[in-house]
Formats: sequence, C-alpha cells, structure tokens
Amino acid sequence: KAALYVVPTPLGNLGDLTRRAEEILVAVPWIAAEDTRHSGPLLKQLGARARTLPAHQHNEHEAAARIVDKLQAGEAVALISDAGTPGISDPGARIVAAVRAAGCPVVPLPGPCAATTALSAAGLNDEHFLFYGFLPSKSGQRKQALEGLRGHPYALVFYEAPHRVLETVEDMAAVFGERTLVVARELTKLFENVDSLPLTAALDWFKEDANRQRGEFVLIVSGAAADAASGDGERVLKLLLDEGL
Ligand code: SAM
Repeated sequence: KAALYVVPTPLGNLGDLTRRAEEILVAVPWIAAEDTRHSGPLLKQLGARARTLPAHQHNEHEAAARIVDKLQAGEAVALISDAGTPGISDPGARIVAAVRAAGCPVVPLPGPCAATTALSAAGLNDEHFLFYGFLPSKSGQRKQALEGLRGHPYALVFYEAPHRVLETVEDMAAVFGERTLVVARELTKLFENVDSLPLTAALDWFKEDANRQRGEFVLIVSGAAADAASGDGERVLKLLLDEGL
C-alpha cells in the first residue's frame, strides 16, 4: 500500500515550500488538491507531473474513496490545500480518517500554517493557546461562541475573512473587554503586518486606515488569566520600582 502525504503549501511566499514538500510533490503520481486551478501554477513551477484530483469540502467523501483506491493500488497521493496545512480550517480530516481506516499510511509533513506563524510573532505571555479557527459568520452565533470562550485562560487564535473583521473585532471587544489583541495580516506577503493593541481600541484602529482591513487575518486574543496575571506582574514591578528596589 502506498502512503498519503499531507503537504503544507506556502501562505504567500513561495520560498516557504520546504525541500521535502517539493520532493514529494514532484515524485508522487497523484496530487489531491482543494482547488486544482488554484494550485496549478505552483505545481507547474515545480515541474510536478502528477495528475490532480479535486478534494474540497463538498466532495470529501467521494475524494476519500478515490484516494484510498489509488493507495491500495500502490500509487502514492499528496494532499494539498489552497494555502497552509491541509486539515487546519481546510478540507483534509475526512480524507485522512478514510485513509487510516483503510489501513494505509498517512505521512504528515511540517510546514506553513497561518496560526503558528502568527503565534510566533505575537509576543504574548500566554504559555498555552487554543486554536479556534473561523467563528460563525452570523453575529448571534458568533457572540455565543465568544461568550463560551470568555473565561478561557489560554490565548485564543482565530481566522477571519476581511469582510467580517470589523464586526468580529467589535463582538470580541464587547464580550472580552480589556485584553490584548494581536492582528497578523498578510503573513509572508508584501503587506505583512503584525500589530499588538488593546482589544477595546481595536475597532477605531481598524477604521483609522482602510488598508488595515484588507487581506488575510489571524486574530489572537490573550487569555482571560494571562492579562490579569501580567497586570499583577506590572503592579508588583511598579511597587518595587517605587520602593527603589
Ligand atoms: N490551512 C490554512 C493554514 O494552515 O493556516 C488555513 C486555511 S483557511 C481556509 C484560510 C484562513 O487562514 C484565512 O481566512 C486567514 O484567516 C488565514 N490565513 C491564510 N493565509 C494567511 C496569511 N498569509 N496571513 C494571515 N492569515 C492567513
């Protein structure tokens, strides 16, 4: 039986494709892609000659069955999404489950992921984080989801689309109040920005400059306990400094 390789692809900067990812994409006879047209230019640039098969959220069951057939016939398959790591707020989990259930090996490659890339530059004190991904698009459900996270002590990592970033940030401020928000925008691309600001000031900050609302976003909110704890730390430090210690 051949293996399914789960292959992360760049978020924007093509230099972020790992050497191993490139080797696999060039070597395998089949590439299952979220959007074959989107991935076409990357695969062409690599000189990958694999045949592609579509594997998106609307055909995951059917794609899984086709992929299992290939693997059982001894033909390896690489699974890619439009950008980043398959299965992380992207199709992939059902395919991986089906391949595993069929007794075929699944080989994951490390690589680009917007969440971990944003976290690495966030500079938050939180020791732990919770990856949430996309919130519901409807405001009522979104607020409910945020309410459920309010007391959570870990940094919260969200993905958001540009046309919803204002309303989401507004809801976050209403539900969480005083926290730190990290806005990681257009990671690895020309207009990359990572900003850290008080959540309560974030709505005005986004409105000040329309460019701040453009592109792709990761939003990270510091955890409930972390801000309180760092607040304590600052108070203690101030006391010590005031005492001249
Ligand atoms: N599987 C991908 C990963 O590993 O990060 C995520 C796919 S999800 C459909 C797309 C979302 O990821 C975007 O809406 C945005 O929130 C985030 N994202 C992707 N590329 C990004 C980038 N270059 N900068 C900031 N966020 C990005």
